[in-house]
Amino acid sequence: MQELKKILSSKQNVVITTHINPDGDAIGSSIALLNFLMKMGHETSIIVPNDYPDFLKWMKNDELVINFSNSKKESQEKIKNASLIFCLDFNNLTRINELGKYISESNATKVLIDHHLEPSDFYDYKIHDVNASATAELVYNFLVEIDSDLIDKYISEALYTGILTDTGSFKFSMSSKVHHIVAELMDRGIDITFINNKIYDSNSLDKLKLIGYALSEKLEVISNGNVAYIVLSRKDLIDHNFKKGDTEGLVNYALSIHNVNMAVLIIETKERIKFSFRSTGKFSVNEFAKKHFNGGGHKNAAGGSLEDKLSVALEKFLNHISKYTIDLNY
Ligand code: 5GP
Ligand code: MN
Repeated sequence: MQELKKILSSKQNVVITTHINPDGDAIGSSIALLNFLMKMGHETSIIVPNDYPDFLKWMKNDELVINFSNSKKESQEKIKNASLIFCLDFNNLTRINELGKYISESNATKVLIDHHLEPSDFYDYKIHDVNASATAELVYNFLVEIDSDLIDKYISEALYTGILTDTGSFKFSMSSKVHHIVAELMDRGIDITFINNKIYDSNSLDKLKLIGYALSEKLEVISNGNVAYIVLSRKDLIDHNFKKGDTEGLVNYALSIHNVNMAVLIIETKERIKFSFRSTGKFSVNEFAKKHFNGGGHKNAAGGSLEDKLSVALEKFLNHISKYTIDLNY
C-alpha cells in the first residue's frame, strides 16, 4: 500500500480493465476507480473486453469506457502508453480474452484488485480477498487508504452498484463490514432508490418475455429435485430479440426452487456454449466449473464454457452432474 501510494503521488498514465461480459461489480468498481484517479489528476482510461448491458450505462463518465472488441487500435495505444494498469474483478488474464495478450506484454506496473479464488500470478501488487463481497468493497477500502475525502457521490454510487449486484441485493452471505461501507456511501449522498431503479426496474418487454418463456418451456429439474437447469439456444435468443444482459438473474429463479441446491443456465452463444452455475450451501460450483467446464469463479457462483455443439455440451453436462447426485442431496 505504501509503495502504491508513492506511485500515485506522481502523475500516471492509468489503464483500468475488467473481465469479459462485465457485470455490475466489474463496471461499478472500474468507474469508481476511474473517477477517483481522474480527480487525483491521473490520465485514466477504462478498457473493457466487450460490451455490457444498458442497465449499467448511467454512471458518471460511462461514455469514456473503451470497448476493446470494437476499438482495438485505441485500446492498444492506451495500453502501450500506460505506466500503471489496474486489473479489476478477475483472477486470470484468460478472463479478458485477446486483451490479456496486450496487458501481459505491457511493462506497466500491474495492480490486481479482486475477490475470486486462486488468482494467477500476472501482477506486481495485489489487493485480494476471497471473503470480500465484491471487488467494489476492496476498491472502497483502497480509496479510503489513498484519500477518503475524494470519495464523492458519483464514486459512491458506482461502488454501491458493485456491492449491490455482487451480493444479490444483500442476500448472499457477507460480513457486517459490507453494511458499514454502504452506510458510508449513503452518507456521501447516493440515492439508493434511483440506483436500484436503474439496475432492476429497467427491463424491456423482450427480456421479461424471454424470462417467461425460459421458465415455462425450458426449465428442467433433475437429480431427485436437487438440480435445476435452463437451456437457451441461439434460436430462443433471436426469437426474443435478445440483448446483452437479458439473461442476467435468470439462473437465480431456478435456484430459488424448494430443495434445489444447484442451478445452471446453459446458453448457446455464437462462439461457444456458456454455462452459469449457482449453488446454495456446501456444493462448490467453482470446483465443478474448474474440473469440467474450463471455468471457475466463487464457491456458490461460477461459470465456464465448452466449445461443442449445444446437444453435445448438454449431454456432457448431464453426464457430469449425474456423478454428483449424492453430493447435491443435503
Ligand atoms: P456468471 O454466471 O454470472 O457469468 O458468472 C458467475 C461467476 O463466475 C463470476 O464471478 C464470474 O467471474 C465467474 N465466471 C463466469 N464465467 C467464467 C469462466 O468462463 N471462467 C472463469 N474462470 N470464471 C467465470
Ligand atoms: Mn465481482
